[in-house]
Amino acid sequence: MKGFEKYYRKSWPERLSVLEHENKLTKTEIQQLEKSALAPELGETQIENFITQFSLPEGLGLNFVINGKEYLVPMVTEEPSVIAGASHGAAIVKKAGGFTAESEQRAMRGQVIIENVSNVAELKKEIEDFAPALLQTAIEAHPSIVKRGGGPLQLVVRVLDHDLLSVDMIIDTKEAMGANMINTMLEAVAAKLRSDLQVDVLMAILSNFTTECLVTASCEIPVESLAKENLSGKEIAQKIVQASRVAQLDPYRATTHNKGIMNGIDAAVIASGNDWRAIEAAIQSYAAKDGHYRGLSTWQIKGEQLVGQLRIPVPVGSVGGSIGLVPLVQLNSTLRQEQDARELENIIASVGLAQNLAALYALVTDGIQKGHMNLQMKSLAASVGASGAEVSQVIKRLKKLPQQDAAAAKKILYEIRNEGF
Ligand code: NDP
Repeated sequence: MKGFEKYYRKSWPERLSVLEHENKLTKTEIQQLEKSALAPELGETQIENFITQFSLPEGLGLNFVINGKEYLVPMVTEEPSVIAGASHGAAIVKKAGGFTAESEQRAMRGQVIIENVSNVAELKKEIEDFAPALLQTAIEAHPSIVKRGGGPLQLVVRVLDHDLLSVDMIIDTKEAMGANMINTMLEAVAAKLRSDLQVDVLMAILSNFTTECLVTASCEIPVESLAKENLSGKEIAQKIVQASRVAQLDPYRATTHNKGIMNGIDAAVIASGNDWRAIEAAIQSYAAKDGHYRGLSTWQIKGEQLVGQLRIPVPVGSVGGSIGLVPLVQLNSTLRQEQDARELENIIASVGLAQNLAALYALVTDGIQKGHMNLQMKSLAASVGASGAEVSQVIKRLKKLPQQDAAAAKKILYEIRNEGF
């Protein structure tokens, strides 16, 4: 694989021709990569070893009323039912007046880890006394954020073990998620700690466990509005409360409960151009904040209302990273019409709660497959090669069969194509 040496230094056309010369892809397959690369110059600025752009479908989450304002929510996902579910959950809440959402403090945390400490209590005290100088060092490393009204807020020293300390800096990064600016500040702080206190620094980096960047979305739905077929609203509400309880008790169920919430959150975060791995890491670790992995949302009945709440960290930015670079990300922001990162946090948390409501409602009534399979059948038809009008014909016939799988879809497609012969 000699052609891949110094691959990162080659131009985009050179990288593609290596794939052909090394017999990895045919000429036709290379053309497919070229065709998929809608903005190669942008791709080359974003990542290394760029070969093409991988596209995912984007749709609109509808019916989101949050703090009295109605939003269109662009969502990027490859999974059928996610956008339908979020819009359905949001519609139930819209009828009840909409979501309430509030972003609390908006700050990030960075860590300088110190190793080989002989007396952790003594060094902790010494660093705490040195805090003003360390905060000043952080400011000098990235002064522009202070001009914007942000910057380092507080220094906290935590003992991790008999020989390990974490020097945590809480930083207001204003409209940015702030990973790069925090890392710049922390490296300066690490150098200061090494030179002035002669400590061994193991590493300096932000923490993705963003407990200082929390947002709470909630909703109150009149119980009677949940009634469906032979189930009363009260019965359905009680089952949703019971499902919420199970997700608090059992990590097997909690993981799936939270995956459902993240279906919507990831889709909204990707559309916003933010680092969705950072959001996933923050939210998933928050689910285990008390040492036991739990469901992120809670549902209770209060009087005649079903009350849902989702409190999670959503460390998104409205600037920074890819946000300013990708035109579609800007367009999505225009669609959402948010004023700032806090408003974006509110939207994302509300999407998570809507998604959760739709999933629980389906699970405790019809089961998840009824609604899901209608949409899955579209993918099934496409996956066996149906195109255009064939897709709806395949779905129509599939629905009549007891077994709705790829083999059945393939057989139907074959029959459709051979009818009339
Ligand atoms: P940037 O490095 O792009 O920095 C954002 C910049 O935006 C700031 O430095 C600031 O520049 C400018 N800015 C303009 N207006 C504002 C405003 N109102 N408030 C704040 N800043 C403003 O992005 P981040 O520092 O946010 O870092 C995010 C990126 O880091 C993401 O791409 C992420 O993937 C990546 N990353 C994530 C890591 C993790 O999560 N563990 C680790 C490392 C990187 P100025 O003040 O100079 O004008």
